[in-house]
Amino acid sequence: MEITVEQLYDFKACPLRYKFIEIDKMPVKLSQNDGLREAIKTTISYFYLNLHQGKLVSMEDLKAKFGSIWYDKNKIYDIQFDDKQAQRKKELAAIEMLAIFHRQQKFNPDKVIAVNVDFRVPIGDDFFVRGNIPVIRETTRGLEIANFKTSPQRPDDFWQRTDMDLTLQAIGFHSMFKKEPDSICLQHLKTGVPYYTERRQKDYQRLYKSVRMMKKTIDEEWFYPRESYHCDSCPAKSFCMEWR
Ligand code: SF4
Repeated sequence: MEITVEQLYDFKACPLRYKFIEIDKMPVKLSQNDGLREAIKTTISYFYLNLHQGKLVSMEDLKAKFGSIWYDKNKIYDIQFDDKQAQRKKELAAIEMLAIFHRQQKFNPDKVIAVNVDFRVPIGDDFFVRGNIPVIRETTRGLEIANFKTSPQRPDDFWQRTDMDLTLQAIGFHSMFKKEPDSICLQHLKTGVPYYTERRQKDYQRLYKSVRMMKKTIDEEWFYPRESYHCDSCPAKSFCMEWR
């Protein structure tokens, strides 16, 4: 069995939603916030791919890139927009975040080692988790994994220390570079503030344990609904109402 980091998050947020989306393959669209996150991540990836080749793209280019994804010219993401006004409002918020990011890079561009690095972590017998490291860069702290956070909330200490995507990225990094990453940076795009964290062997063990537990729950088909604030933006809400 193979599962992606996104699917693990879906399962963690609500097992029933995971079932609707991943097993029943019900047609669902991305929520506006999820769509915004994916569109910004793709735009930043475009920036770094160019930087890796020695080209610092302009803010105008970044805006155009984001716009082409957001207005779906290339049909990359299927996003459920409330209305045109909400779509425009989110676009402006995204441009603000990208402008802060671009200003920081313009005067002090990163030394990029790799962009969009895929990894596949073995968790147990015939069970793998697939994921992606957005950027690996060389810094004064050493080799650093960089991630970009689009939500307005700042990442709190607990989240920084326990987020499973970061732990999986660190394990993926370890298998490629044969050492732990020297640093992991979470760039809060709304404020431009970087938050630094790290992962060590004890974090890996904690991760293995909880992912194995999730797999057991999936194998047992315990797809129960977990009502929470996630329900507000859940793309499977209409199916959930009919669930018995
Ligand atoms: S509406 Fe809530 S409980 Fe129902 S599937 Fe979505 S997240 Fe789960």
